[in-house]
Amino acid sequence: MSGPLLKVENLTKHYPLGAGFLKKPFSVVRAVEDVSFSVDAGETLCVVGESGCGKSTVARLLMRLTDPTGGRVLLEGTDIAGLGKHELRAWRRRMQMVFQDPYSSLNPRLTAGQIITEPVQNFEHLSRKQRNALAADLLQKVGMAPEMMHRLPSELSGGQRQRLGIARALSLKPSLIIADEAVSALDVSVQAQILNLLLDLQQQMGIAFVFISHDLGVVEHIAHRVAVMYLGRIVELSPCEALFARPVHPYTEALIAAAPVPDPTRVRLEAPVEGEVPSPINPPSGCTFHPRCPLAVDRCSIEVPRLVPMADGRVVACHVRAPVPDSPVSPACHGKTMGTLVVPLCR
Ligand code: SF4
Repeated sequence: MSGPLLKVENLTKHYPLGAGFLKKPFSVVRAVEDVSFSVDAGETLCVVGESGCGKSTVARLLMRLTDPTGGRVLLEGTDIAGLGKHELRAWRRRMQMVFQDPYSSLNPRLTAGQIITEPVQNFEHLSRKQRNALAADLLQKVGMAPEMMHRLPSELSGGQRQRLGIARALSLKPSLIIADEAVSALDVSVQAQILNLLLDLQQQMGIAFVFISHDLGVVEHIAHRVAVMYLGRIVELSPCEALFARPVHPYTEALIAAAPVPDPTRVRLEAPVEGEVPSPINPPSGCTFHPRCPLAVDRCSIEVPRLVPMADGRVVACHVRAPVPDSPVSPACHGKTMGTLVVPLCR
């Protein structure tokens, strides 16, 4: 296969609210706006942002659990956003999902073995012996004893349930797994075990991950690249190391500054932005971050910034930090203080 495993182009999702005269919606929730990215085989792309930024909607759109309003989702070159129900079923084998709440995503009446083998049986008939062998193999792969195949989800711990969810996702040998806040409901020590398990499986099986998370500690541990979302749009997409070493977008900078630091000797930077994420029903004009941005200039409330490629391989959407090369010089090209951070502009 040449090219990326997954390519997302201009993905958009609007939810109409209410229906008035001639079924015209009263208003629209702009959950995802013009999102584009790609994921290579064996790569982990993390999508981060505050709650309500649209990251979980992106996960649902990738899995076609909801239909997009616009844009394309190309998996191995085929646009799955445009497939009919029957064709989509075959493509679902290649893409699986791990959910945030392991308990509610597992059928409480099925045993662990039945849960693992159920997806495969949707595609091919397996004898009892084959089912047991498959369940035992996958349970071992995720670090559980094969005998646990006879247990119900209620007889497992939170970490074991999430391992079971991962084993179910692996049963169809997918090339891509979408993990939506897959460790956020777990204790910290169990989180670390599950993250290490995912990394091991990626190395052994070459699986790509789209990992949705609000936890920057988790993201820094597992991501190859990170997409930062704000109010439905990607504002910065960068190699992981570069993003944490030198965030460029003011929102990325604020997220990293606000993240807890597990080191009592390190002085925590003051979070440079305040306030809530605005409503996606009536988002601010221009750059939607401008009401909270300490660097905002006049242009920010008028014009939506485009994602501009930078020398170190990242793309950033900001009129001040990443001006479009052929546009006039940024109107506020001088240093500015953000809380305790002194921010050099126009690098
Ligand atoms: Fe802030 Fe303007 Fe950049 Fe948006 S475009 S992040 S408002 S400086």
